[in-house]
Amino acid sequence: MPMGMLTNRKTLACLSVLVSLAACQARTPSPTLSPAPPIQQTAPTAPAVVASPSPMSSAAQTPSAAASAAAVANATTTVVATATPGALATTVATPEPSAAPGLQLCSPLQGVDWAVLPEMISNPFHPPRAGSDDPHQAVDFADIGADGLPLQGLALTGRGVQAVLHGRVAAVVASRFPYGNALLVETPLELLPGAWLEALSLPTPAPTLAAIPALTCPSAEPLEYDPEKRSLYLLYAHLEAPPAFEPGQEVGCGDLIGSVGMSGNALNPHLHLEARVGPAGIRLGSMAHYDTSATPQEMANYCQWRVSGLFQLVDPMLLWGVGEAEE
Ligand SMILES: [Zn+2]
Repeated sequence: MPMGMLTNRKTLACLSVLVSLAACQARTPSPTLSPAPPIQQTAPTAPAVVASPSPMSSAAQTPSAAASAAAVANATTTVVATATPGALATTVATPEPSAAPGLQLCSPLQGVDWAVLPEMISNPFHPPRAGSDDPHQAVDFADIGADGLPLQGLALTGRGVQAVLHGRVAAVVASRFPYGNALLVETPLELLPGAWLEALSLPTPAPTLAAIPALTCPSAEPLEYDPEKRSLYLLYAHLEAPPAFEPGQEVGCGDLIGSVGMSGNALNPHLHLEARVGPAGIRLGSMAHYDTSATPQEMANYCQWRVSGLFQLVDPMLLWGVGEAEE
């Protein structure tokens, strides 16, 4: 085969991968659409939905917004270094649930009532078949200027991103393709009220799939886990700065974890919120799509998370559907 043909084939393959990945971006609204209504500015904790009286002490578990903001603002390269991007994927003993039945649900965007979230979707959940790396495996929220603002039509950076559910950090990603700066938070299913579990219609556990050939998936130590225990994992991606968190750290509902940015594979600023159900207690460290700057372990972690079938996709918007039903 002539060398030129080989090169062209490779180029085409790369282009097709890039094109499919690039579809994960905030879309700006068509100019013919009426401007989005103004975003309701409410206290960050206002939209919390409580299934039953919550014994969780938000005062004890939720640092003040100012403290969180300071922590985020202080995210420096030092934090990047301690984010252990090449950390091995390991399992840890599943922490005993510290919260009881009344788990709170918080908006992922600071100052935005969860009821307004559907109006901020710039790219909806459109899952590919299991094992595929194609978009769109999450919901994108974009803060698009509206109502006479000079920035109308432009997506904005900077709005605070906060934890939707109480949980523990399962991965900290710093400047890696495609998620950029991202935080993965695990919430054991046993903490979710029964009605939520029913409404989420979680998939039954699937066997681990073989890596798809289109993705570079280095071999890694197989993950050990208890198949009886599962967790909901929420990934917050494209943040402005590397999250100032470490794997295993506790996160409270509404805690500030960063701000909306366009790190990684994002052509416009937006929050990429990806939800999966998978084995409890897994710590992925960091993860990355194939990239010459990424470690083999990071690439293996990405494959485990994204295409192995071990972590099964869930529509994040179903969470707020549950909240709506309870009001
Ligand atoms: Zn996305």
